[in-house]
Amino acid sequence: MATKRINISGGGDRLSAAAIAENFGDLHPPLSVAQAVVDAARCIYCYDAPCVAACPTGINIPTFIHQIRSGNLDGSARTILSANIMGGTCARACPTEVLCEGACVVNHTEGAPVKIGLLQRHAVDHLMAKGGEHPFKRAQESGLRLAVIGAGPAGLSFAHRASMLGHKATVFERDEKPGGLNEYGLAAYKMVDDFAQREVAFLLGIGGIDIKTGKALGENLALDDLRKEYDAVFIGAGLTRPARLYAPGVKFKGVRDALDFINEIRRARDKSKVAVGRDVVVIGGGNTAIDAAVQAKRLGAENVALVYRRGQEQMSATAWEQGLASSNGVVFRHWSAPIAFTGEGAVASVEFARTRLAGGKLVVTDETYALPCDMALIAIGQELDQRALAGLAVERGKVVVDATYQTSLPGVYAGGDCIASGEDLTVQAVEDGKRAAIAVDAALAKRRKGIA
Ligand code: SF4
Repeated sequence: MATKRINISGGGDRLSAAAIAENFGDLHPPLSVAQAVVDAARCIYCYDAPCVAACPTGINIPTFIHQIRSGNLDGSARTILSANIMGGTCARACPTEVLCEGACVVNHTEGAPVKIGLLQRHAVDHLMAKGGEHPFKRAQESGLRLAVIGAGPAGLSFAHRASMLGHKATVFERDEKPGGLNEYGLAAYKMVDDFAQREVAFLLGIGGIDIKTGKALGENLALDDLRKEYDAVFIGAGLTRPARLYAPGVKFKGVRDALDFINEIRRARDKSKVAVGRDVVVIGGGNTAIDAAVQAKRLGAENVALVYRRGQEQMSATAWEQGLASSNGVVFRHWSAPIAFTGEGAVASVEFARTRLAGGKLVVTDETYALPCDMALIAIGQELDQRALAGLAVERGKVVVDATYQTSLPGVYAGGDCIASGEDLTVQAVEDGKRAAIAVDAALAKRRKGIA
């Protein structure tokens, strides 16, 4: 019989509150003015800049870097934000090592890229700290009203661009705060000093955007009602349901969704009070699994194992994120699938079956092993909650849209993680929202002229 393990307690029982506060400090401290100018000078201003092609929002990177070098920080921030209004979050949370910095030609000559992410943060933080007028103006009032479902990166990006184009946007958010995954789903050390909320406040500075929190589609909000009341509807609701793991014992105490754990850490005023196991097993292979594993360790867990059903190369977490986890003492175990949680009410171990590829398919073998733990975090992905989306075409768990982000319902558009547009990244969601707003604007203009 499995031994009962009851080691979950606030991280502060193992590490001092000061140590935990330090562990949750800024992962990438900002550049000083001198450091920024020196690094900006490393950019050779490529004509056909591969860094721009690698950025889902197409920020004019050589231009904003050149503006930093010449001391024009306001202009630099405007260059960034005109393409990506959430350039501040993306500078902190984007996997730049596989996007812009991965493509930077200076990798080949100097062995390390221009620090594009940190330079972007340098310029945007400067503009936000300066305050004053919002850098973008609204076009002449169109009189059109748009409904936006979800105040995450896609929804807020849509609302901001729609506002620039002269429309009014009402954003309906199920949670108590706007920001979506920027607020609730990223490791706390990536978004210190309440940055997600400061960015939302900055974005709202354009005017014409109203956010209503505590409004959830299918609960106190109906798609049909929004379609009648507004000129168009944009769904940027993300993937809100944790993918289920079907294994005996999954309901034991100590087994929880990794995003829920990350969310609790983000909300906690005193992180030393967040309960964490002594021996933690994290199941999954993406950045959420890494964020959960590293944070468990930084809260005071003694042993953290991250277990993935395939190999290291197939993990969606980037090599940099994997390296961060390793350097924090997280141990990786690959080619293992969870088959059961054992214990007596509370989890005491997770049983895994070894996996392997056979004819290109993943198969579970008879070879099993158990990892003792008092906490198991499940990070196997999120799913679309389809209950409130009746009438919308959905394929392979994502809302179907055409090239203009139009769903199968006239006047209803969608973007972000709930559609299959590219990588499940904040930066992609921002681009979806921006493009969808431009497409909606064009469609409404045609409708007004009576040509559609
Ligand atoms: Fe500058 Fe690197 Fe982009 Fe070239 S690829 S423009 S060097 S940041």
